[in-house]
Amino acid sequence: MRERGVGALVVGVDLKTSKEALKLSETHDFLRAAVGLHPNDVPEEAFDTASFGELARNPLTLAIGECGLDYYRQEPSEAVRARQRERLEAHIRLAEEVGKPLMVHCRPTRNSMNAHRDMLEILAEHRGVRAVMHFFTGNAEMASRYLERGCFLSFPGIITFTSEYDEIVRMTPLERILSETDAPFAAPVPHRGKRNEPSYVIETVQRLAQLKEIPLERMKEHIMENVSRTFGFDF
Ligand SMILES: [Zn+2]
Repeated sequence: MRERGVGALVVGVDLKTSKEALKLSETHDFLRAAVGLHPNDVPEEAFDTASFGELARNPLTLAIGECGLDYYRQEPSEAVRARQRERLEAHIRLAEEVGKPLMVHCRPTRNSMNAHRDMLEILAEHRGVRAVMHFFTGNAEMASRYLERGCFLSFPGIITFTSEYDEIVRMTPLERILSETDAPFAAPVPHRGKRNEPSYVIETVQRLAQLKEIPLERMKEHIMENVSRTFGFDF
C-alpha cells in the first residue's frame, strides 16, 4: 500500500475486528477504521452499544459500519428483516450521535432489489446522516435514488471484469464516487482468483477513470476529495 500510495479504511464487521481495525490505525498513518457489526456475518453477536460507542468516538474511527441489510445470505423472513433493521438503526443512532458517516452493506435476494427498497425507506427517516453505499451493486434506479438522497456510491473491483455497472458509473457524478477493494474478496483484473489486496484499488480507479473518460490522476483527485468530504480526513 505504501509503494502504491494507497490509504484505506479498515472495516470492522464485529466488535473484535472493529477493535483490530483501530489497532492498525494507531500504527499506520495510511489506515483509519470503520467500526460496526455486519448484518449477518456473525449472527450470534448482539450489538453492544456501549463498546461500539467507545470505539465510534475514537478520533481514528472515520465511519460507522459495516452495517446494513443482507437478504442474500439470510432468507428475509419478517423476523430477520425486523432484526436486521433494528441492528441497522442502532448504527444510525450511533452515527448521528458521533457525527460520522455510515458504511452501508446492502445485499438483496438474488434478482431482487428488496434490501435496497428497505434501506432507502430507513435512510429517508434519517436525513441528517451521511451514508456510503459500500460495494454498490444495485441497479440504475436504486443508484439514482441513493444519489438523490445524498449518498456516496463506492465501486469495487468487479467493475474491472463486468460491464453490468458501466452505466451506473457513468451516471454517478464525480463528486459522489468512492472506490474500494473489499479485500480479501473479489480481486480486480488482472488479479482475479487471487487474494484481493487493498493496493489493488488502483485497478478499480483506473477503470472508473476509463468509464468517466478522464485521466487517472484526475479520477484519483476526485476520489481523495470525496474521501475528505465524506470522512473529514485526508489520507
Ligand atoms: Zn459488505
